[in-house]
Amino acid sequence: MKITDVRASQPVGNKSPEDWRTSLGQILIAIDTDCGITGYGVGGGGLAGIHVVKTVLRDQLIGRNPEDISQLWNEMYQATLAFGRKGIAVMAISGVDLALWDLRGKSEKLPIVSLLGGIPGNKIPTYHTVWDIQDLSPDSEHAGYKLHLGKVATAKEQEPIIASIEQARSMIGTDRFLMVDAWMKWDVESTITISKEVAKYKLEWIEEPLSPDDLAGYQVLKDKSAVPIAGGEHEFTSAAFRPLIEQKLHTVLQPDVCWCGGLTELINIYTMADEAGLRVCPHRGCEIWALHAIAALDRNPLAETGRPWMTWVAGQPSIQNGVIELTDRPGFGLSIDEHNLKFLY
Ligand SMILES: [Mg+2]
Repeated sequence: MKITDVRASQPVGNKSPEDWRTSLGQILIAIDTDCGITGYGVGGGGLAGIHVVKTVLRDQLIGRNPEDISQLWNEMYQATLAFGRKGIAVMAISGVDLALWDLRGKSEKLPIVSLLGGIPGNKIPTYHTVWDIQDLSPDSEHAGYKLHLGKVATAKEQEPIIASIEQARSMIGTDRFLMVDAWMKWDVESTITISKEVAKYKLEWIEEPLSPDDLAGYQVLKDKSAVPIAGGEHEFTSAAFRPLIEQKLHTVLQPDVCWCGGLTELINIYTMADEAGLRVCPHRGCEIWALHAIAALDRNPLAETGRPWMTWVAGQPSIQNGVIELTDRPGFGLSIDEHNLKFLY
């Protein structure tokens, strides 16, 4: 089997963010082969990510055998090393890597979960991320909720943050997980103070209180936070996760498979975390790209709800009664109909 083309585009979804400057402009990668199979993956970086695929990664892959995914990953990493390593270049590689895995599954006629040693059909509990506290419900069938506070409440606003967490716990009752996402907007001192005030509300974790570059800050929080710390959504490659894991700077690691380097790197992160006795809970795990790894590799599976604009990825399993379950369709099991998609770029 040989790769004949690598294509990248950004489909339009329902209220899809158009802005390439954030991680949110998700791009569709299609890898065509001479045996008529096309593999699909999703990466990030919008128009900028597309540019990396079209001007660098495509040249690396055309004419190559798609089956040696780790070799191709290393070559893509090398080809982008001088300007890549993190951010948009790795987001672009992520989409290509996922498309290579989809090809592998389709050519072997197996779902990715089976390639990873798992079985389809296990029911994975889900948690729902909300940006508005009014969206919390005591009647939900999700195993838990995460309240996203970072965009509205910064380190200076400790009292409203603490009040929101108290309110969230009282709204959902005591039976469900509760998490809070600070989206890199707090600092060390405020996180310590807030964690001590809210520990009584039984939070599973505080997510990304600091910048991913503030490893020294996370070192302090490791000992002084009264609530476990989660993070990793904005970190890239298993090489960067290694110090987080070896120094146990996060209790829960949250790689995003469409950004961190693809399934190849998510597997490496799972392996390292498992050896260190740490938990992995991938970012937006209910989206199909991480779900196969969660089903196959996770001892304590919990999948975060996906992003509402990813409406162009057809064939994803839906959440039923608070759980999500893979089918046994080959590859990622999607049915992407390119002819019926509209594209921003
Ligand atoms: Mg987050």
